[in-house]
Amino acid sequence: MGRRIPTGQQLVLASHNKGKLREIATLLTPLGVAVVAAGDLGLAEPEENAPDFAGNARIKALAAATATGLPALSDDSGFCVAALGGEPGVHSARWAGPGKDFAAAMQAVQARIGDHADRRAWFVAALCMAWPDGYTQTFLGRIDGVAVWPPRGGNGFGYDPMFVPAGGQQTFGEMDPAVKHGGSHRARAFAQMLRSCFG
Ligand code: IMP
Repeated sequence: MGRRIPTGQQLVLASHNKGKLREIATLLTPLGVAVVAAGDLGLAEPEENAPDFAGNARIKALAAATATGLPALSDDSGFCVAALGGEPGVHSARWAGPGKDFAAAMQAVQARIGDHADRRAWFVAALCMAWPDGYTQTFLGRIDGVAVWPPRGGNGFGYDPMFVPAGGQQTFGEMDPAVKHGGSHRARAFAQMLRSCFG
């Protein structure tokens, strides 16, 4: 049994990614928690040097919780491609470069897949809830599908336009955001977090 976040608690969102902040804030709205973004508190972004999503999520959440004295929730996530051995994976943001150019990042993914027959791909999200005393809980969510080319759709962010979830037709970039939020990697990790921290 994990620790609970009481109703009315102020919660720091330990992310500087606008797309993720928007999605997480939407998912948290029904819970009545007061969310504040780490960037709005002037918190610096810690170096994410862990080898996996869970490790990086923990680094971000702990840094924000200890700096603010408030519980903090982080998300570390990425796009993984089977033919590339799981890359870009934890390097998903880095592949877009300092200009956060995801059209170029998607192009690089496609170039490396080349004419490989295996187009399987998946998104992973690790959510970490950290408390100021150093206690943490981590939750993992994943959604499988295929990498498509060319990219389609202007919704979402990051690699959304080149990912079609298994059994679907539309890319995450074409989908209504509410549909994406209903079953995404982040939504799946979120459901576990809700049961544990708010259930
Ligand atoms: P980080 O977790 O901030 O290191 O960055 C994760 C990166 O993975 C984001 O910048 C996106 O490029 C990508 N990513 C994570 N989740 C999603 C998603 O739901 N859609 C599209 N791209 C995503």
